[in-house]
Amino acid sequence: MPELPEVETIASQLRERGVEGKEILSVKVNWAPTIEPYTVAQFSSAVTGTTIDQISRVGKWMLFALSSGQTLMVHLRMAGSFAMEQGSHDRIIVKLSDGLTLYYRDTRKFGRWKLVDDPQTILSKLGPDALTRRFTLAYFSEAMKKRHRMIKPLILDQGIVAGLGNIYADEALWESKIHPERLSDSLSDAELAALYKAIKQVLKLGIKNRGTSLGGGKTNYRQVDGDSGGNRGEVKAYGKSGKPCVRCKKTLEKIVVAQRGTTFCPACQVT
Ligand SMILES: [Zn+2]
Repeated sequence: MPELPEVETIASQLRERGVEGKEILSVKVNWAPTIEPYTVAQFSSAVTGTTIDQISRVGKWMLFALSSGQTLMVHLRMAGSFAMEQGSHDRIIVKLSDGLTLYYRDTRKFGRWKLVDDPQTILSKLGPDALTRRFTLAYFSEAMKKRHRMIKPLILDQGIVAGLGNIYADEALWESKIHPERLSDSLSDAELAALYKAIKQVLKLGIKNRGTSLGGGKTNYRQVDGDSGGNRGEVKAYGKSGKPCVRCKKTLEKIVVAQRGTTFCPACQVT
């Protein structure tokens, strides 16, 4: 599932490919639920003829600022991705000026495109993006201390901090040696500081390696050119149950925490 580093990678690659500044010439929608509640005709007439002024990212949302003043907000959910070459499972095809075409690909069909007048209608419900200056240690510590919940679902809660999903949450908890079921108000200041630092660190590493793909399947994350992300070799915990912890050599275990599969080290990440 694309998380902050994967969405950032896709957004920056679309910018590198010159999508910003291009006019939308036509839109073909092959899977209408992606653009609900708009009909295909409504959506097409709202975006055709506009220019994509800017592509940015907040949390796991991609934002395409249009010259009409509206913003197209895309959430890739389970398996959405963008490509500049035709492929299979292309749900929306956007023809752009200068001969470019944008293919929105989504094997699972859960991704959603929202056309909004003001992005804040969606963004105001999110906590600070984990890689912005708004996400401070003071804010994070207070948010954890004032709640009495297990730490893993809290750092996955986009209303508290935006950007983490299951992979990077497991990685940040492993990195900071915190058990995923620890109660948030039981964490010491030193533990909170370590987790805060680890969250930023694992996300930045994910971006540097252009995202994490964990297998070769069609639902897996792909970069814009179709390549897998390069971060797989850096993953220490997620999806590695039964393998030895690279820090202490004990076998990693998998448990379910708040309905999410969670891998951790029973020796390093103490309760
Ligand atoms: Zn360990």
